[in-house]
Amino acid sequence: MSSDTIFTKIISREIPADIIYEDDEALAFKDINPQAPFHCLIIPKKPIATINDIQVEDMPLIGHLYRVAAQLAKENGFADEGYRVVMNCNANGGQTVYHIHLHMLAGKAMGWPPYTEKLKV
Ligand code: AMP
Repeated sequence: MSSDTIFTKIISREIPADIIYEDDEALAFKDINPQAPFHCLIIPKKPIATINDIQVEDMPLIGHLYRVAAQLAKENGFADEGYRVVMNCNANGGQTVYHIHLHMLAGKAMGWPPYTEKLKV
């Protein structure tokens, strides 16, 4: 699978985004189609297509993405009231961009579960 996604182009500034955080390893920007009052995406600069492609050597990087999420939550006043951090994987997970990203959603109480059909057990 090609590693050239829309997020690669955001990292290289080929297409614009509302970037709210950047360091050597990660970038965070506002989601173009927000699902909460505050909805940003936190991505590694290294292109990893899906959760299934995360390697052992990527473990510090994945932890770093969560630390960035927590920092953004604190900076924007959501740390205490709470927020949702989620990473979708492949079709059933709802993944549409194949460069892993944490969704960080905040500013209202989140629903659960995330599916609408009643689960048959
Ligand atoms: P997912 O469906 O989990 O792969 O999430 C992809 C997310 O990327 C969606 O929430 C989209 O709204 C968001 N998205 C797609 N293109 C852009 C863009 N150019 N700038 C910001 N967010 C985007």
